[in-house]
Amino acid sequence: MTTGIHHITAFCADPQANVDFYTTVLGLRLIKVTINYDDPGTYHLYYGDERGTPGSVLTFFPWTGSPRGTPGRGQAGVIRFSVPAGTLEVWAERLGQAGILTLGPQTRDDTEVLTLADPDGILLELVAGSGNDLREPWTGDGVPQEMAIRGFESVELWSLRPDATNRFLESVMGWSLVDQNEERSRWQLGNGGPGAWVDLPHHPAPSAGKMGPGTIHHVAWSIETDSEHQRWLEQLQESGVPVSHAYDRTYFRSLYFREPGGVLFELATEAPGFTIDEPLETLGEKLQLPAWLEAQRDRVEAQLTPFVTRRGVAFPA
Ligand code: ZN
Repeated sequence: MTTGIHHITAFCADPQANVDFYTTVLGLRLIKVTINYDDPGTYHLYYGDERGTPGSVLTFFPWTGSPRGTPGRGQAGVIRFSVPAGTLEVWAERLGQAGILTLGPQTRDDTEVLTLADPDGILLELVAGSGNDLREPWTGDGVPQEMAIRGFESVELWSLRPDATNRFLESVMGWSLVDQNEERSRWQLGNGGPGAWVDLPHHPAPSAGKMGPGTIHHVAWSIETDSEHQRWLEQLQESGVPVSHAYDRTYFRSLYFREPGGVLFELATEAPGFTIDEPLETLGEKLQLPAWLEAQRDRVEAQLTPFVTRRGVAFPA
């Protein structure tokens, strides 16, 4: 069973602009700096709450110098973060001071929403007071407890074939339809709540998306144990869905497949988590390489674009 969003992964252009925005402006913790296991000359940056709890984890592949992507169908299109009720005016002011344009706050389906774009143009929304969100926020990067991001609220999938995706989410993923209106269907994973909702607009962007900086690559859904991978493999194969084998991503284990609307899905285990290779107190302060790349550290570091964190830690070394 999938219990909620595990992480969302997107492309950015410049790691420095990405780190500055997600830590200093949005107040997320940089919890891991590693490389893209499938493309070791580039980083994989992870943000989240203090320990990178599933449902709080947003990750980026910086593709410096690569042509911008085009957000569109066949991708996730909007990332929504959960913030406490009554904080959107303060957020709008904070974002304005950082030179970020915002739209709203506006009311949508009984919740208050503030819309913005990240430095690469990825659509983000801050949703205030959605559900009864008791998750502990990270406050170590300058955003106070009373307004800090609690984790994801939901994610919006821009399907190439919304009808087929809706059927798939019910029959294969086993999710429940909890709300439907003229604009969208809202699905619930597990027990639902912030971080366990998925929205499917009936009429998303007019054309198919193109991968590159400024677009979302995939959404990972949480599963509790490794043994569930085998069950999912069988279930997906029985449903005729091409699916990868399980990959060891150090911090979780993952398998990948596309839903019929083109969006890349991942199923990621909750364990072992981000403290497996460095202490909780200093997460994200050293370039972490998987064991199979450690012997080539110098060569890997030489290919990476330099950036400095909010705490003054310089990467790649
Ligand atoms: Zn992933």
